[in-house]
Amino acid sequence: METTLHLISDLDGTWIPAGLDRGPLRKLEANIASRPDLTLTFATGRSLRSALRAFGHLLRVWPRNFIVDVGTALFHARAGGAWVENGDYASWVESRWDTRPLAEAGPRWLPTGVRPQPGISAARRLALEVDSWRDVPSAEADLRERLGRIGMVADVLATGRCLDVLPKGINKGTAAAFLQGGFQPSPPVMACGDSENDIALLDMADLPILMVDSRLDRRNRGLPWERVHRTRFPGPRGILEALLTLRCQGRSG
Ligand SMILES: [Mg+2]
Repeated sequence: METTLHLISDLDGTWIPAGLDRGPLRKLEANIASRPDLTLTFATGRSLRSALRAFGHLLRVWPRNFIVDVGTALFHARAGGAWVENGDYASWVESRWDTRPLAEAGPRWLPTGVRPQPGISAARRLALEVDSWRDVPSAEADLRERLGRIGMVADVLATGRCLDVLPKGINKGTAAAFLQGGFQPSPPVMACGDSENDIALLDMADLPILMVDSRLDRRNRGLPWERVHRTRFPGPRGILEALLTLRCQGRSG
């Protein structure tokens, strides 16, 4: 069946809020399951392994696609519950990720108070975190300056106390746009998110949905505020209400 809506949702704080009540999640999942015209994609800053470990026991309805590691990797669901990485997307992102300057700079190039996030070893992303004593904006500025000095071409994305060093121009929005290219015709996108690493995803969406409890506000540039709809409820209840009450149309049509 032709996809008439591509629903792309963040996980932490969006599909799965803190203190999740499973009742609203079951209702949202039932609605998704009843709509064969809807394609569901999850987009997370976590690795696939981390997302499956954290949320696998909570989910009954699975997405067709999984954007992971802040858009630097993309997986598709296969029969039997297997996940297969999209090799074309992986190669394209890889071509934009030259870490030789990092290797040449050695282990001491990181700013003081910035260290690798424990347990994350993504192939095309450097996940860092800022120590509690250090101010995040100054650590971010310091990181950008040092990356420039060692000749590392990359984007820096700050989400809370996490600093992600990403291949230039790659984020959740890039992976979502890549997925859109696989549909014929391309369906409208409704995207749901709550934090800084969702901004590019919300910006590419026809209908950007920001969770009611998100800390993002108009000081966060890059969000298409004139099109953003804020949910009335947190988590699955808010997403389901948006799904049932808002009309999502392509912007070009
Ligand atoms: Mg989130």
